[in-house]
Amino acid sequence: MENHFTINRRTFLAGTAATGLIAVHPFSLQAAAGQAHLRIMETTDLHVHVYPYDYYADKERDTVGLARTASIIKQIRAEATNALLLDNGDFLQGNPMGDYIAYERGMKEGDMHPVIAAMNTVGFDASTLGNHEFNYGLDFLMKSLAGADFPVLSANVVKEMGGDPTQDVTLVRPYTILDREVTDGAGEKHALKVGLIGFVPPQIMGWDRRHLEGNVQARDIVATAQAYVPQMKEEGADIIIALSHSGIGSADHVDGMENASVPLAAIDGIDAILTGHSHLDFPGPKYEGFAAVDKDAGTIHGKPAVMAGFWGSHLGLIDLMLEKSGGEWRVMSHASEVRPISKRNEDRSITALVESDEAVLASVATDHEATLAYIRRAVGKTDAALHSYFALVADDPSVQIVSIAQLWYIEEMMKGTEHEGLPILSAAAPFKAGGRGGPEYFTDVPVGDVAIKNVADLYLYPNTVRAVRVTGAQVKDWLERSAGMFNQVTPGEGEQVLLNPDFPSYNFDVIDGVTYQIDLSQPSKFAPKGELVNPEANRIVNLMFDGKPVDPAQEFIIATNNYRASGGGSFPGAMGDTIVFEGPDTNRDVIVRYIVEQGTISPKADSNWSFAPMDGTSVLFDTGPKAKEYLGDVSGMEIEEAGEGPEGFARFRIAL
Ligand code: MN
Ligand code: MG
Repeated sequence: MENHFTINRRTFLAGTAATGLIAVHPFSLQAAAGQAHLRIMETTDLHVHVYPYDYYADKERDTVGLARTASIIKQIRAEATNALLLDNGDFLQGNPMGDYIAYERGMKEGDMHPVIAAMNTVGFDASTLGNHEFNYGLDFLMKSLAGADFPVLSANVVKEMGGDPTQDVTLVRPYTILDREVTDGAGEKHALKVGLIGFVPPQIMGWDRRHLEGNVQARDIVATAQAYVPQMKEEGADIIIALSHSGIGSADHVDGMENASVPLAAIDGIDAILTGHSHLDFPGPKYEGFAAVDKDAGTIHGKPAVMAGFWGSHLGLIDLMLEKSGGEWRVMSHASEVRPISKRNEDRSITALVESDEAVLASVATDHEATLAYIRRAVGKTDAALHSYFALVADDPSVQIVSIAQLWYIEEMMKGTEHEGLPILSAAAPFKAGGRGGPEYFTDVPVGDVAIKNVADLYLYPNTVRAVRVTGAQVKDWLERSAGMFNQVTPGEGEQVLLNPDFPSYNFDVIDGVTYQIDLSQPSKFAPKGELVNPEANRIVNLMFDGKPVDPAQEFIIATNNYRASGGGSFPGAMGDTIVFEGPDTNRDVIVRYIVEQGTISPKADSNWSFAPMDGTSVLFDTGPKAKEYLGDVSGMEIEEAGEGPEGFARFRIAL
């Protein structure tokens, strides 16, 4: 095993010499005697992306993959004499290759995890644990880390608490001090001790409670750093770099905060901060207006910082100009940047900026092939057809499965919180439901096997799970907003067009856990973009919870996604101020986990919503022509074929 990776590593480094054209960085050119240019490279939130491949869509994707980032790493190593490569966590989970290893192949003693194999090939100097490292349990994590040729750090994940953090027994080593030799501007070699310390959001204790409770505890990031940094200095660290798997957030320290990189950067003795977890780029415009943060210079509290996107999308780079005087090294000047592996063109197409590194691809080729087979074969079964042909006119299994999986997840997450015991509802919308996507643009998974690639079809967007806490009045208005999907209908008239073409289906949230009817004789309370236009309108009627009318003051938790919860679609009760839980997991991952754990799923629609009956009234509804095969599945509704609609759609008549 050892030899295999040594060979790979050598192949990779040998390739460096062959890249040809080399631009030397100004810091390297400027360095005088006693001055050294040190480059710190960061990857973060790789989430098992090595090949430039989207396993959900089962096709190549130029925006992801460590094999691509590795080509930038090679260029940078060629540009400067002294370089360190650090990974900032969340490498073990987050795409179907990660799931394949965890759920199918397994990690036995001595097995190599493919992302670790790829990281060994690229040649990392260290990594830190991200929150997703805990998703498959501690045993899986430790077996995976055993294959790493580099130290993996985390200072605030603790097996046995001591009197202060430095007395703790930690899960992995809290920090390391690398003995490196740097070459100065005069060509002379100097010893440099580089201290590295890792941090993870303490929220792991809630997010992965079932794996962690009773096994480890998590400490506050800033308090942990304050304890360890002086000790690292005493042990001779010339410079200290924080590997903070934590976002750039508030400058005010709050005990246990998730995104603690700003107060962390304020700690004396920390010279540079690698950040992550938020899947964004820093320096960059997203961090406009953050206290103590310079979004253009890439500094936090004046210190160099970086965040390298996610899935290998960027390489983060901090250049440090170090000077030795009086036997001590100090940072003279610095620069931060992120280098992307691809660019988005004006027509939204993507151009790759680098090729894949062949040695890195080769290091995971076997597991890549096995993952392709895995995504294409059944991981579970469904005993109901999961199609969205009628998702806009009746409660539907393709939306129901999303709701069920979200509910299953949020129930677990609410345990032990102040929100435990509140009724939990779940909101989901049909993402693929014809419209401007055309008559083929529907979810369609038949009864029987469900493969991983089908899950992308069930949940199109890489959203993450969130929960909001709302009142009964907000639940009703949320549904009023959804009901803008439909045109107003005149009672007693036939063949009226049902769907408002200006209303996208992804804003048609169905809320499970309550029952309700939609009265189409009323105007919509909200316009398609969410403006309140008819304050007195009430399309939502007979709204019940547990068989009783919903009390406007009653409180509920609604499981949803980050887009909706933070104001996407302007839904009442979901404007960002009601969020009580921000999950680290994608809705898609939650659906995969749910299917794998259940084996067979029964996403039977529970008909919790319907149109309010209207005598002698009918509407016309256009959907995909394949809907005809499923007409028998629609229960509790009088629906029949009514010929052809425009542009290849099939038309149906519904008697209200
Ligand atoms: Mn992540
Ligand atoms: Mg339902």
